[in-house]
Amino acid sequence: MGIKPTCREIHRLTSEGMDRQLSAVERLRMRLHLLLCVGCRRFGDQTALLRRAVRERSTRESEP
Ligand SMILES: [Zn+2]
Repeated sequence: MGIKPTCREIHRLTSEGMDRQLSAVERLRMRLHLLLCVGCRRFGDQTALLRRAVRERSTRESEP
């Protein structure tokens, strides 16, 4: 890992952050990158939306 995270790394952290708690360093790297990178911001938004949609659907399906 260099000082500047790549978009690929941010994409990975974005997905992993939905499943586990990221470390303070990881979150900081992500936040700094997101300030500069529109692409990764959009990726984060889409991933969050997708996750929410999947979760809502599975919650609804498990209800009687
Ligand atoms: Zn990026």
